[in-house]
Amino acid sequence: MEFYDVVIIGGGAAGLTSAIYSCRKSLKTLLIKGPHPGGETALTKNIENYPGYEKGSGSELMDSFERQAKKFGTEFIEDLVINVSKKSNKFLVKLESNKEFESKTVILAFGRKRRKLNIPGEDKFLGRGLSTCTICDAPLFAKKVVAVIGGGNSAVEGAVELSSIAKKTFLIHRREDFKADEITVKEMKKKKNVELVLNTMPLEILGENFVTGLKIKDLKTNKEKTIPLEGVFTEIGYDTDTTIVKDMVDKNELGEIIVDLKCKTKTPGLFAAGDLTLVPYKQTVISAGQGSIAALEAHKYILELKRK
Ligand SMILES: Cc1cc2nc3c(=O)[nH]c(=O)nc-3n(C[C@H](O)[C@H](O)[C@H](O)COP(=O)(O)OP(=O)(O)OC[C@H]3O[C@@H](n4cnc5c(N)ncnc54)[C@H](O)[C@@H]3O)c2cc1C
Repeated sequence: MEFYDVVIIGGGAAGLTSAIYSCRKSLKTLLIKGPHPGGETALTKNIENYPGYEKGSGSELMDSFERQAKKFGTEFIEDLVINVSKKSNKFLVKLESNKEFESKTVILAFGRKRRKLNIPGEDKFLGRGLSTCTICDAPLFAKKVVAVIGGGNSAVEGAVELSSIAKKTFLIHRREDFKADEITVKEMKKKKNVELVLNTMPLEILGENFVTGLKIKDLKTNKEKTIPLEGVFTEIGYDTDTTIVKDMVDKNELGEIIVDLKCKTKTPGLFAAGDLTLVPYKQTVISAGQGSIAALEAHKYILELKRK
């Protein structure tokens, strides 16, 4: 079994930055990319707030992160981690493909999972007119009538994106005000083919083989109605799924992994960086910053292990 100094779980901004810093400390480093190489950043068409990168796509930015990590010697695997455990001072990382690796340290950088609505039709129509990623799937709904459910940045940006692709977009949100940035909300409100359906809750996704409508309830009047649709996008936030590390980490009331300023979890040698932590703003630059801290701290931990 291969033995590493650092195994990094996740191929987004946090994981790739950890890999760069870890290799530059001459640590033998393996990065397991998971299902979405480049992470959430790679889904963003335009990223304009990453310092030094004035304008360009998120996937180009993440490709350059990966090239840089490769240049310094990171080994990559496209696989899914299914379990992490620790015995004495060694971590054992198990992959879906049955491969296993041992490591002195592990950096968790696997981001968050998109939240579900938990309404009838959701499982049946996923991939059949129901999408959980507007930025990824909007082009499939050219000239169609669609709805985006949610009120945060992803939902509002999604509605803006769809306004130039779909015939009409309903933005369905259970509140009156939006969590999304004001500037993005303003941009959405200018779009003539985006209709806001506020104080409204989705009840059921309807259809035979493909989505044909959405049953909704007005939360002010309690009246129910059906909107005929050809597509539905859910953009209702995220959860941090820590099943693979079970009780090796503590979580806060939002379900995020608790780390200190040095990205340490409660388990010695286990670090966490990026969106999955309690860091308040979920941004590429912040994930990258935490990724660097986690790797530098992993290096320090390994030096201390040697000294003992
Ligand atoms: C639509 C949208 C637009 C955005 N726009 C901006 C923006 O303009 N500027 C900005 O700064 N931020 C933006 N963000 C936020 C930014 O994308 C995130 O903060 C950033 O991607 C977080 O990076 P991360 O590495 O922590 O996690 P992620 O990017 O989520 O990466 C997680 C990685 O973990 C991997 N993974 C998951 N599970 C496993 C597993 N079990 N085993 C192995 N690997 C696993 C995934 O494949 C992925 O590679 C945007 C986000 C969205 C959704």
